[in-house]
Amino acid sequence: MKTLQKENNQLTNAAFQVKMLESTQEFKFSEKLKVIGLFPLKPTTIEILQINLGKLCNQVCEHCHVDAGPDRKEIMIKEVLLQCLEVAKTPTVHTVDLTGGAPEMNPNFRWFVSEISQLGKKVIVRSNLTILTYKKYLDIPQFYADNKVTVVSSLPCYSKENVDKQRGSGVFERSINALQRLNEVGYGKEGSGLELDLVFNPGGASLPPKQTALELDYKRELKELFNIEFNNLYTITNLPISRFLDFLLKEKKYEDYMNKLIESFNPAAAKNVMCRNTISVGWDGKLFDCDFNQMLELGVASSSQNIKDFNIEELTKRNVILGQHCYGCTAGAGSSCQGSIV
Ligand code: SF4
Ligand code: SF4
Repeated sequence: MKTLQKENNQLTNAAFQVKMLESTQEFKFSEKLKVIGLFPLKPTTIEILQINLGKLCNQVCEHCHVDAGPDRKEIMIKEVLLQCLEVAKTPTVHTVDLTGGAPEMNPNFRWFVSEISQLGKKVIVRSNLTILTYKKYLDIPQFYADNKVTVVSSLPCYSKENVDKQRGSGVFERSINALQRLNEVGYGKEGSGLELDLVFNPGGASLPPKQTALELDYKRELKELFNIEFNNLYTITNLPISRFLDFLLKEKKYEDYMNKLIESFNPAAAKNVMCRNTISVGWDGKLFDCDFNQMLELGVASSSQNIKDFNIEELTKRNVILGQHCYGCTAGAGSSCQGSIV
């Protein structure tokens, strides 16, 4: 591991990610899975269709694994959205999970959400909250309520200083404002049926704390300070890819962080990693085992490689593509888009 860190001082991020995948045999993620009888890793079924509507975002967060921002041009076009709509009808698929960038910035966003919601599928939107405070999007909270959308939003702390440091200046204030407006239309309120969940990820090179304990802290603080209510808090581990990998390399913390992830490998979490019941669709229709493999451009190992050729039988038979970044999903209590796994 030490040699790897040293060598990588000269490598670009992309070259480094490839290097990580070729890491020493002893620490290979696939070797860990062999020991517990989970290799090759196979999906159980496909229940969640996670769709990246584009990389366009109004923010440029420090730890963004999508590398999203206001200057990104990649956007899912209507033709691909229509193909996703067809696949969403698959009986095993019960949830359509929309990500970005800021998914709301896709010009066909509202139409697409209404169509999915009419199919009777659960719709999750991963909203960055701040987008809901801009004029063009002020009516989105009511639109979400009308379509019974589950809103999942990142709020890495209940203090202004920490949030603005990780997500940009002014993000905290705008996020609080958006949460209050979501509460006003019923989100997070008991009996409303409108679910509002928050996501915590650590600000540095550490594992997240226990989800249940942190949720209690968040609920108490947000209620007392801002009269905000929400349903669940999900804790997520930062995976060593993209901007977070840049951060680890810059701070010379890569080696320590990887060691921490490897030492905390949890076989129970490995059994339930999200790639076993989720398929991720890129903005251009390409299929991936998960959002992280999408960012690493590791397409699915299947003859069904694009949403337009979606074939559930083929995809359910595939072997999941694994790499060293997968340790981020299996450390401690595990990590997925729905928070800890065990
Ligand atoms: S809001 Fe989300 S998608 Fe946008 S830059 Fe931040 S982490 Fe990335
Ligand atoms: S990073 Fe992706 S492929 Fe690897 S274990 Fe996590 S969800 Fe599965």
